[in-house]
Amino acid sequence: MSDEHAREKQEFAFQAEIKQVLHLLSHSLYQSREIALRELVSNASDALDKMRFVSLTDESRRDCGPLEITIEPDEAARTLTIRDTGVGMTHDELVANLGTIARSGSGEFLKGLSAEDKEKARLSLIGQFGVGFYSAFMIADRVRVRTRSYRDEAGWEWASEGTGRFSVEAVTDPLPRGTEIVLHLKEDAQDFTSPYRIKEVVRRYSSFIPHPIKLAPGGETLNDQKPIWVEPKNQVTDEQHERFYQHLSHRGEEKPLWRLHLSVDSPIQFHAVLYCPASNIERLGFPRVEHGVSLCAKRVLVQSDCRELLPDYLRFLFGLVDSEDLPLNVSRETLQDDTVIRRIRGSLVKAVFDRLERLAKEEPDAFQTFTDQFGALLKEGAIVDVLQRERLAKLVRFESSQKADGRRDVSLDDYVSRMPEGQKRIYFLGGPDLAAIEKNPNLEVFRKRKLEVLYLTEPVDEFVMNALGSFSGKPLTSIDSDDLDLPDAPAEEEPEKLDESKAEPGFQRVLTLFREAIGDRVREVRESHRLTDSPCCLVNADGSFSTQMQRILKMANQEVPEASRILEVNPKAPLVRRLSRLSANAEHDGFIKECGLQLWSNALMLEGVTPDARELVGRIQGFMDEAAEKRSPLIVP
Ligand code: ADP
Repeated sequence: MSDEHAREKQEFAFQAEIKQVLHLLSHSLYQSREIALRELVSNASDALDKMRFVSLTDESRRDCGPLEITIEPDEAARTLTIRDTGVGMTHDELVANLGTIARSGSGEFLKGLSAEDKEKARLSLIGQFGVGFYSAFMIADRVRVRTRSYRDEAGWEWASEGTGRFSVEAVTDPLPRGTEIVLHLKEDAQDFTSPYRIKEVVRRYSSFIPHPIKLAPGGETLNDQKPIWVEPKNQVTDEQHERFYQHLSHRGEEKPLWRLHLSVDSPIQFHAVLYCPASNIERLGFPRVEHGVSLCAKRVLVQSDCRELLPDYLRFLFGLVDSEDLPLNVSRETLQDDTVIRRIRGSLVKAVFDRLERLAKEEPDAFQTFTDQFGALLKEGAIVDVLQRERLAKLVRFESSQKADGRRDVSLDDYVSRMPEGQKRIYFLGGPDLAAIEKNPNLEVFRKRKLEVLYLTEPVDEFVMNALGSFSGKPLTSIDSDDLDLPDAPAEEEPEKLDESKAEPGFQRVLTLFREAIGDRVREVRESHRLTDSPCCLVNADGSFSTQMQRILKMANQEVPEASRILEVNPKAPLVRRLSRLSANAEHDGFIKECGLQLWSNALMLEGVTPDARELVGRIQGFMDEAAEKRSPLIVP
C-alpha cells in the first residue's frame, strides 16, 4: 500500500509516449486552450461519479459529504486551481495514471505522423489516448497535484514542469479526500485568472456536468447540472447536444454528423443519446477505437465505457444510456448476459438503423459523408450480423460502372431500380482499384450491352457480396464467373451478332491445340460470348470464389481452394481469326500452342498474377526471334 512508499521525494521519468504527447500539447494553438479547463473539469467529474458510485454500493462509505468541483482563479499568484471531492488517487495510482502508463498504441501512432498530420491529430489525440490531464500543460508551465484517495490516510503531491520528469512526495498536513490541481499559468495564458473568463468557459463547455461546479471565492454555482438525456427531446438545443458530444468524445470543437435522442418505456425503460463523430479516426491510422457508451442507472454513472450496449461494428458512436430498470451493482462480468442490457441494445441498434435510413432519404449529402467515413464499418456489420443483414444491405454503398467517378454512392436498391427487363442478376467486379477494374476484359460485354456493374474497390466489399449471396431475390454475381445468365440481347443487336459470330472454320481446332498446350492448368478452354475485343479472358467455375476474392485470401495467407478457372477464347478477335486460318496446316501447331500459352499468361498478368518468369521470357524471346527473322533473314555465308 501507499504507506510503504518512501516519504521523501521520488523522481520519475515520463514514459516516452507521454513525453511526445506533452510536447505536442504544450505547443498547441491558442484557440484550443479552453479545452484544458474542460478536460480537467471532466476528470474531476469522473472522479465524483466514481465516488458517488462507491457511496451507493458500499455500506461503510454511505456518508461521503458533498460531491462538487471548485474552480479558483488567483490573479496575484497567477494560478488556477481545480478541486474535487472525488475518489482521489493512491501513491501507485498517481504514478501510473499521471506519468508512466500511456494508453497502448499512442506512441506507435505518433511516431508515424508527419508534422502536418500531428497538427491535425492534436485535438483527436487529447481524448483518444487519455491525455486529458496533460492538456493542463497547454496553459501551465508548472502543475502541482495534491490528492488523497478514499482508501488512504496519506495524501500525495505530484509536480512537474511538463518536460521529461515528475516528482511524487508525501504530504504531511492532512488532506481532504479528493484531488486538487494547481496550474501555474503560462505568460500568455493569464486570462485564465479572470473569473469572467472561467465562467464563460465553464458555461460553454461544462454546463451539463452532473455535479455542481463552483467558483471560488464566493461559491457561485456555474452550471445547471441538468442531464440533457432525460429532458424532452424538443427542449434540448443543438448547442447543448454539441457540447455534450464534445464532453463524451473529448473532440475539440467538432460537431457530430448526426445524433439520436431516444426515450423508450417498454419493454425496458431507458433514455439514450447517441452521436456519430464527423470523421472516422480509424481511417487516419489510429488504432481501432475502443471507447464504449456511458451506462447510467437512475442517473448514476455505472460504467463509462460499456461495450455491450452496441454491436462491435457500431463502435464509432459516442453516447449515454440511462435506465431505471438497472441495478447499480451490475458488474462488467454480468453485463454480457444481462437481459436488460440485451434488450436496450436491441432497441438502440434498431433506432440507429432508422436514423440512418432517414438520413439517406432526407439528407443525402450528410449520408454520403457518413458512408465515406463509416461505410466500411456497416459493411463489417453486414458480414457478421446475420440478424441485421437485410437492413444493412440497404445501407451499404458501392461504386458503379454507371458513374465511375470515384464516388461510392450506389445502393443495391438503386441498382435494382435501373435493371432492364430480363436481367435476373446483380453483377459486380472487384479489383485493387478503379483503374485495374476498368481494364478487365470481362467488362466488354457489359459495356456493349449497357448493363450496370458494381465496382468493388474495398476488400471488404467482396466479403459483403459473399455474405449476402443475393439481394431482393437477385443473385449477386461476379462478372468473372462461369455462368452469367445474361438477359437476352435486344433484337437490333441480333443481326450484327449473327454475322460476326461466324467463327473461322479452324476455330475448334485452335481450342483443341490450346487445351493440349495449357493442360490441367485450367479446367476448360472454350468459346467466349462475353468478349468483344480482347482475344481471351479467365473466368471462374460456378461455386468458386471470384478472382479478386482469391487474391484477397492469398494476401491474407489464407488457404485458397485451387480455383477451377476456365479460359474463354474470343473467335472474333483478329489474332484468333488468324490462328484459326493457320490451323488448317499442321505445320503451325507448335506456334499456335505457344500462342495459347502466352494468351493464358497474359490473362493472368492482367489480374496481377505473375506466371513463371523463365517460361514466359523464353516464349516471348521465341516470338521476337520469329518476327525479327521475317524482317531480316540471317544470311549464312
Ligand atoms: P482519462 O481521463 O482519459 O483516463 P487522463 O490523462 O485525463 O486520461 O487521466 C488519467 C487518469 O488519471 C484517469 O483515468 C484517472 O484515473 C486519473 N485522474 C485524473 N484526474 C483525476 C482526478 N481529478 N481525480 C482522480 N483521478 C484522476
